[in-house]
Amino acid sequence: MIDEKLEDVLDEVLRRNPGELEFHQAVREVLESLGPVVAKHPELLEHKIVQRLCEPERQLVFRVPWQADDGEIHINRGFRIEFNSALGPYKGGLRFHPSVNTGIVKFLGFEQVFKNALTGMPIGGGKGGSDFDPKGRSDSEIMRFCQSFMTELYRHIGEYTDVPAGDIGVGGREIGYLFGQYKRITNRYESGIITGKGVEWGGALVRNEATGYGTVFFLREMLAARGHSLDGRTATVSGSGNVALFAIEKLQSFGAHVIACSDSSGYVVDDDGIDLDELKQVKLVERGRVGDYADRRPKAHLVERGNVWELPTELALPCATQNELSGRDAATLIDQGCVAVAEGANMPCTPDAVRAFAEAGVAFGPGKAANAGGVATSALEMQQNASRDSWSFSHTEQRLDEIMTNIHRLCAETAEGFGAPGDLVRGANIAGFQRVALAMDALGV
Ligand code: GLU
Repeated sequence: MIDEKLEDVLDEVLRRNPGELEFHQAVREVLESLGPVVAKHPELLEHKIVQRLCEPERQLVFRVPWQADDGEIHINRGFRIEFNSALGPYKGGLRFHPSVNTGIVKFLGFEQVFKNALTGMPIGGGKGGSDFDPKGRSDSEIMRFCQSFMTELYRHIGEYTDVPAGDIGVGGREIGYLFGQYKRITNRYESGIITGKGVEWGGALVRNEATGYGTVFFLREMLAARGHSLDGRTATVSGSGNVALFAIEKLQSFGAHVIACSDSSGYVVDDDGIDLDELKQVKLVERGRVGDYADRRPKAHLVERGNVWELPTELALPCATQNELSGRDAATLIDQGCVAVAEGANMPCTPDAVRAFAEAGVAFGPGKAANAGGVATSALEMQQNASRDSWSFSHTEQRLDEIMTNIHRLCAETAEGFGAPGDLVRGANIAGFQRVALAMDALGV
């Protein structure tokens, strides 16, 4: 239920951003939590802080022309939504996927503002990307696309203004091509303009693993708050990209038994538990499909186009994409004994699913808190770039663990303080909002 005073704000967002369903969903979800905060701080409504927060500071849309290997010229659309800079330079990833449009980038940018605030690091929120489909494209096509994308983007970014990174479809290879083009155009080696760089050229150790590891650290804290641990639990992870792979790695190191993962072709179940080396070989080295993994493992099979949430599991980690876990999936998971859900992806559970988990008493870690480890480690990369330093793996992982533990504590204490003990959705939304809102108010209109 949404507070009456915030209903008008939501109506205005819906009216001003027609058809942007994911953005509407993300805004509604946050505003539903904020009633008690604006009741306590009426000046925030008077100063129109919530309205201002829902309107990006700047929206960039640009043409990205590029040439395929066969000589054909393609035109894609590039986006960068610079959402909020009250706490620091805009910070957030770039997504290359055919589903990308203004509404998707806005929802991601909006989430990023709160997520980044929760980390306690000096970073604002932004997001970008393109409707370019990298699937099936050669390495040189990817390079030419990235170069064209940066040929426009370079003039908008900078260490103190806007610092992109990766997201779906943008990993180390793409960051390299993007950074290379920035350097070529500007003739400046400004490491701090982008994160997720290779460790040999300004990147940070653990950045690659950080989102997945961080999600599991957060999950560990959620379970610990209920007197449980990860050891011996069965876990299902959706996706098999960067987030999923390193969530699986950390789950296994804590003694959980990961039985399944997925990609857009379907899901794979392995009764022996997922063999991470084999999965990394298929996904990272060969850029193959989960079916290739199933072919090589004696007790694994692929369920083509299947829904991974039909499997019984105690822990569910949706690490693929938005709205991938429906209310019906949540009901199935609950019936089959699921006790905790941590969102490795951004907004992977639909509002119905989140409601069902809450009603059933399933521990639920919302993405803006649970997957904040990626961007937090990006902020650590920025720190290292600024001081021309590089930290060890163990030191950086330790920092990540502390940050995730702090985020969990902040969300849990905020939920408790606002009369909703255990409700980490409310805790994350309120705690993130308070940090950004107070900064915005201090900075004036
Ligand atoms: N794309 C990631 C996210 O959704 C990371 C962003 C970053 O490192 O800037 O938080």
